Amino acid sequence: MGYDVVVLDPDPEAPAAHFASRHLCAPFTDAVALNDLARSCSAVTTEFENAPASSLDILASEILVRPAAQAVAIAQNRIFEKTFFKERGIAVGDFAVARCHDSFERGLLQVGLPAIIKTARFGYDGKGQYRVDTLSQAMEILEREADMLPVVIEALLPLDLEISVILARSAKDELGFWPVAENQHRHGILDMTIAPARISEALAQQARDTAATIARQLDYVGVLAVEFFVSQGRLLVNEMAPRPHNSGHYTLDACITSQFEQQVRMLAGLPAGSTEQLRPAVMVNILGELWAQGTPPWSLLFAEPEVKLHLYGKQEPRPGRKMGHFTVLGSTVEQALCTAERLRRVFGIY
Ligand code: ADP
Ligand code: MG
Repeated sequence: MGYDVVVLDPDPEAPAAHFASRHLCAPFTDAVALNDLARSCSAVTTEFENAPASSLDILASEILVRPAAQAVAIAQNRIFEKTFFKERGIAVGDFAVARCHDSFERGLLQVGLPAIIKTARFGYDGKGQYRVDTLSQAMEILEREADMLPVVIEALLPLDLEISVILARSAKDELGFWPVAENQHRHGILDMTIAPARISEALAQQARDTAATIARQLDYVGVLAVEFFVSQGRLLVNEMAPRPHNSGHYTLDACITSQFEQQVRMLAGLPAGSTEQLRPAVMVNILGELWAQGTPPWSLLFAEPEVKLHLYGKQEPRPGRKMGHFTVLGSTVEQALCTAERLRRVFGIY
């Protein structure tokens, strides 16, 4: 798009650094690096959820920052996020907040069992989460992981389905939605996204409306992802992400404008590109365990005319680490799903 990019990332092997003009390798809170970023850029965005909101605030005093620190601060803390939804009448599953031993026990009794305990900060891909079936099990976990407080305690919901809405909102309150995506998780990690979701138009509309309300209430500018549970026919918000989202990776290959391009457009104040989907798509995540026998046989994917492989350039393939994904395109969702299932068997992803 003609822009130069400067990346701030403390990881010396940051994948994004390979595509940037400069890599500032420093902590996200480093004053010198933040100053350098502010002086060398016209605008700043984040595609990592845990960039400290305080750093975004510092940058915002000098240059344009989108999304704003205050929206990111809410999204990066499960307590703020859940409370924000509840206070605005947005339907969420039963939950309690616990900051100490006593409120932990009270919260579990209030929410009921089985439950999922989630750390307020820095959880992702099911990390920082504990499923508990009994009170004694929960108290044992608290003994062992005393520093996990504060936490959100959620009722374990029976899930019919999980879906997500990814939208882009401009500074002028223009909203654009990609098709609602259907998400399947394994071990708390997104495994597969099916787009468009196999749901009724009424449910899709309800999900888009809810996501739009959230974006407006946050005065959010940029790409926002909202994850939903469909539980016993009810649509409940699970969480949001203030950035392009894994369940929107299919947009790279299947839509006129990808979520990543749109993020740049929103940041630069350009008009939004079309979010229209050109082909049904299924995205399959590739995790580190696939490297158990060395580099996986990518030629099997390249042999498929309607499959696109994306590797992120992460150095170390740890089990459970998202290393890349492939997207299967098809003339129908069923056809794409059928090819995706066949390739999953070939690669031993199950
Ligand atoms: P993360 O930040 O790791 O994505 P989530 O809260 O989205 O955290 O949880 C990851 C996955 O775990 C969800 O997508 C869902 O499959 C499952 N999960 C989380 N919370 C609940 C819940 N309250 N009831 C049932 N399943 C849940
Ligand atoms: Mg999630």
